[in-house]
Amino acid sequence: MDPAALLRYANEHLPDHLTEIRPLAGEVATSFYAGGGASAYKIKVYPADYDSERLLLETEIVRHLAGKQLPFATPRIVHEGRLAGGAAVLILPWHAGRTLDELRPLTKELRQNWGRAVAQLNNALRDAPITKALHTYAWNPSETLQHRALSKYFSAEQKILADSAWDHFERDTLPHLAALPRGLNYNDGHGANVLADEKGTITAVFDFADVVFTERLNELAIACAYAAMDVPDPIGAMADLITLYAEHQPINHPEHLLNLVRARLLITVSLAARRAVTEPENLYHQVSAAPAWSLLERLDEVHPSFATAVFRTAAGHAAPGLIDWKRLAPVSPVNLVGKSLLKLDLSVGSLQLGLNRNFEDLPRFTRHVSNLLADNGADFAYGGYGETRPVYTTDAFAQTGNDGPRWRTVHLGLDIWGPVGTAIVAPLDGYVHSTHVDPAPGSYGPTIILEHELPDGGRLYTLYGHLAVRDVNDLRSLAQQGAPRQSSGVAYASRTRVRRGDQIATFGRPEENGGWPPHLHFQVMTDMLGLRGDFPGVAFPEEAEAMLSLCPSPLAVFNLPPPLIASNQVNLSERRAATLGKSLSVSYAAPLHIVRGAGQYLYDQTGRRYLDTVNNVAHVGHEHPKVVEAIQRQAAVLNTNSRYLHDNILQLAEELTATLPPELSVVHFVNSGSEANDLALRMCAAWSGSPNVLAVETGYHGHTERLIGVSSYKFNGKGGRGAPGTTDLLPLPDVRTGLHRDPAGAGRKYGDLAQRFIAARSASGESIGSFIAESILSCGGQIVLPDDYLATVYAHVREQGGLCIADEVQTGLGRVGSHWWGFELQGVVPDIVTVGKPFGNGHPLAAVVCTPRVAEAFANGMEYFNTFGGNPVSCAAGLAVLAVVREEGLLEKALTTGNYLKQLFRELRDVHPLITDVRGAGLFLGFELETDAGHPATKQAAYLKNQMRELGFLMSTDGPHENVLKVKPPMCFTPANGDLLAHYLDRVLKKLA
Ligand code: PMP
Repeated sequence: MDPAALLRYANEHLPDHLTEIRPLAGEVATSFYAGGGASAYKIKVYPADYDSERLLLETEIVRHLAGKQLPFATPRIVHEGRLAGGAAVLILPWHAGRTLDELRPLTKELRQNWGRAVAQLNNALRDAPITKALHTYAWNPSETLQHRALSKYFSAEQKILADSAWDHFERDTLPHLAALPRGLNYNDGHGANVLADEKGTITAVFDFADVVFTERLNELAIACAYAAMDVPDPIGAMADLITLYAEHQPINHPEHLLNLVRARLLITVSLAARRAVTEPENLYHQVSAAPAWSLLERLDEVHPSFATAVFRTAAGHAAPGLIDWKRLAPVSPVNLVGKSLLKLDLSVGSLQLGLNRNFEDLPRFTRHVSNLLADNGADFAYGGYGETRPVYTTDAFAQTGNDGPRWRTVHLGLDIWGPVGTAIVAPLDGYVHSTHVDPAPGSYGPTIILEHELPDGGRLYTLYGHLAVRDVNDLRSLAQQGAPRQSSGVAYASRTRVRRGDQIATFGRPEENGGWPPHLHFQVMTDMLGLRGDFPGVAFPEEAEAMLSLCPSPLAVFNLPPPLIASNQVNLSERRAATLGKSLSVSYAAPLHIVRGAGQYLYDQTGRRYLDTVNNVAHVGHEHPKVVEAIQRQAAVLNTNSRYLHDNILQLAEELTATLPPELSVVHFVNSGSEANDLALRMCAAWSGSPNVLAVETGYHGHTERLIGVSSYKFNGKGGRGAPGTTDLLPLPDVRTGLHRDPAGAGRKYGDLAQRFIAARSASGESIGSFIAESILSCGGQIVLPDDYLATVYAHVREQGGLCIADEVQTGLGRVGSHWWGFELQGVVPDIVTVGKPFGNGHPLAAVVCTPRVAEAFANGMEYFNTFGGNPVSCAAGLAVLAVVREEGLLEKALTTGNYLKQLFRELRDVHPLITDVRGAGLFLGFELETDAGHPATKQAAYLKNQMRELGFLMSTDGPHENVLKVKPPMCFTPANGDLLAHYLDRVLKKLA
């Protein structure tokens, strides 16, 4: 096909004058992009011998859909004709945008929208007035077996894999196809045919050459086949498509979906294998072959029952047949009659978990559980079915992949906590299915699984974990009758009978049971998913619903009451909107529900662990045990105001001032950064008699009326009313993009700008009473002040009688690493220093520290009273923070880890031109994103932040254009955390390239 001739043809038939044409990859028709005029078009050319019925069907479908009110665009036929040689031509409008393939990796939302789009399309085809429906087509998954002969092109390994999938299809699905609803299917909903916008909305679907009359479920299967390629969790990806598909189309037979997905993949690999031989030059046909093979390989490992359970729950179907325990009348495996019981809540946000900082310390956890039992006078504790637990979210349990680290968190069994040696009996008649000993810490330890036959012919399995090794060995020797014993691993005790009520095991000791407090993990399974002794006891949150449907609640077996569902957990966003002020923002489009913090990590309600690079408030680490204990201990004894003598307030004042230059020796305690800055400004006004404040552009100093007035970040931002008459604003001293770009002398030049404002005030008989600045400009985008800047401004301000405030609310207490305070980087001593955020590690505690002369001037007779400021509990928190900073060497760590992180960011900058600057000090860092043209890459920064959140990393953006990624994590952040962060940043930045 001569493109120039085709362009001439197009120009003869279109109102536009097109100048540009280029071929597109395509299956049967040869497709071209034609543009350069007012509009752009897709031109499809069909060979003269192309099936005329199929072409007619395509045009009829396109015309039919054009008349439908679909929420996304479908093509219109602008021109239909024939070329001189007989080839048919369709000209359609060009749909601009990015295909789902180009948008990969896709978000969950995009996958869901993809599923909905194919369902809507399929519905729209139901009443299509067509001349003739075509019932057979090479790409129809139901016809996969016709391609089996092409397996001669496969390698021996590929053939084994393909035969397994074909066999499954032939045996388990083909005989049931007749029962599936049929209709006209689009039959081509793959990622290259679907466009979406940045918000994740599907904007267009095209290419209707593959329409065929077949089982409707194939429509979903095809989209699933492509959506599951190259993703870490293919079944989960398919489940995403199903959720919204099912809202528009019933999925009555989810058990056949997996086989139909595999059927389509087999067609892809078969046709590609043949074409690799017949048309080796056409690479288009090979694009999907490699990912299709690897998906076939992954799916071969998936148990069909598991996939069906996932699909069924995604489609909103209830679990099949709950177990009729009443009828089975089991004996409780542990005799709890007459015992005092405690319900134990070990869910992520449970307050019963106490001071377990990192859950790696199992002996500590063991003590904690036995104390809970003792303190509550309980013989046994129980709980855990369906519970989301933080216990398995340590590095040791992490699975890393394309989606960021993942953890199994949802507990599938019921735990009964009690004394070592407690007898366990079989609840029902059954057989020993398997025994297993996994000695790894944190594992099941010795485990037994029993198999029970049900009166209706079904089967049920019960699992007993954390037993004594002896129990398992006894059972094995019983089964093996003298056969040599295995000390560990799996031994299959074939068909050893146990009777209802027989003792089968006991609670093991921590040393043998996987390191846990003595307890029984009891789990019921309706399907073993082809596993033996290693059936998981915890599930990934995404698959939890499906796994819980296969592992029904065992509470009834023990005669324990079913749990109450806490309805107030249902929609936090709605409750928040109803009761909290609208101007309180919430991070991320899909807000996070955070229920626990530990160290540098935060956990959401599903147990997902996020690495926190944002939170400089949790200075020494979220919920640091020392700080928590200090608060708990003091709160239990005394909390009152500062009108009485107390050691805590004095000790804290002394320890705080010891970290500061000697001139700064007087402390006023307050409760927040805002209060601190507000008080500091009052002190300056009292000293100088002037209310005028000199502040720096894009600064933020607090939320009170007075402070909004000195925070240009707010008064010049959304909803702001501009600067009040008492505020003068110094330009941002940014050496990269500001007024003075030569680093030599920039600090002085920027600092000298203060003179202008002083002169203007002086001209009207006024002066500047205070200068307030952060020591590294955080809201300005982590701008490090140029040398001599503060010294220059301070000199000018002081000369005319004003005072200088260093706002250390973000930068203080060692964050910059080389010093305790950010202002020390500038070699100055302020008149007043304000301390906030990190001081109480999350507990409201802040302070104003000034010179004795400033304090003297402020004490003009009016009492300064602050109800909460300096109370013994807050001071205990502050003391603990200072102690931890010293004991854990956090300044040094901030310096070394900060420098390492900076190095990692610089390495990223070297390969990703989007990063144009890396800056900051210690663990107060930032990197800026700009486009080729040097414009702030605001959208890209938002994208990066949101993608990183999906991957398990919390990051924030700032700067006047929100294009600076701020990194100011808890100070216990490690170099290894940095490596992981950089690894995933690199992945996302690659997508932005
Ligand atoms: N100063 C600076 C530099 C800040 O970043 C903040 C808070 N973001 C404040 C003052 C105000 O502190 P608070 O929110 O504790 O009132």
